[in-house]
Amino acid sequence: MNGAVAAATPFETRRTRTLALRDRWPFAAELANFVLHVLAAQERAFVAAAEAHIDTGAAALRYAASEIFPEMARVAAAHGPHAMALGVQNVLEARPDPEQILAAWLRGEQVSAVEHFLARAAAGPVLEVMGRRAADVCAAAGAVRPGEDAARRHCPQCWGPPQVSVFDASPDALVTGRRSLECARCAARWPFARLTCAACGETGNRMLEIFAEEGTLESEMTGHRVRGRATPEAAAASVAAPQARFGHVRIDACHACRYYILTVDAGRDPQAVPAIDDLLALPLHLYAADGGWRRIAPNLMGL
Ligand SMILES: [Zn+2]
Ligand SMILES: [Zn+2]
Repeated sequence: MNGAVAAATPFETRRTRTLALRDRWPFAAELANFVLHVLAAQERAFVAAAEAHIDTGAAALRYAASEIFPEMARVAAAHGPHAMALGVQNVLEARPDPEQILAAWLRGEQVSAVEHFLARAAAGPVLEVMGRRAADVCAAAGAVRPGEDAARRHCPQCWGPPQVSVFDASPDALVTGRRSLECARCAARWPFARLTCAACGETGNRMLEIFAEEGTLESEMTGHRVRGRATPEAAAASVAAPQARFGHVRIDACHACRYYILTVDAGRDPQAVPAIDDLLALPLHLYAADGGWRRIAPNLMGL
């Protein structure tokens, strides 16, 4: 890049967080190592795409398919988990049209786990470069804009589903920060009501359930012991327990639709990078899956 000081990319922040969580969460070390390879390749793609001055959604889709998709396949084959590396070989031997895989994924159609990884890893940098024009890429792929009733639960920038929910750090320690959802496709954030299901819009307190690590909700600290279960009100007033491994991450689940989303509380961990914390918090996702809860959007690894 030109200039004496190269601007930090969002990928640099994600890499730093991946390294930190690799140390903190040893169970995720193997995945973290692979994610570091993916982020490095995505950062190169992001910088190149920004310099390519892509002017239309269709051009962006073609660029992701021809310039980034093959590189992500190479990274997955060289560094991915064994099953993924094998799967990539099978996908490539079938000689697919990467643009068709990308378009199918953007339309929300069912694709294989390996195709999901390749499409998402390849589209991400281009969608982030397109920013406010990200919807042009999705429109070029034939994706449909969500209806008015569902619009708040989808990204205003690219119409994608939320990956993770975020509580911003609040300047006032006694006031919890506002909630946002972060897009699974373009990483944009948009404000969202705290006590509302991000999948179906349910707002009834008795239908919403929060699972958090024991010792991380204020109700426990004040004597009302809760084991992985709390009312939204109790959780909203929560404070972090010093020894908690997942003190800043919790599961927000909905009995109405049986979907869940992880919420990352940046007030409790200012270094958090929600998409990375969501990706590496494997025990919480296993816990949710054991309970029969489904994710709104699978993460990069298709989980
Ligand atoms: Zn988006
Ligand atoms: Zn719901």
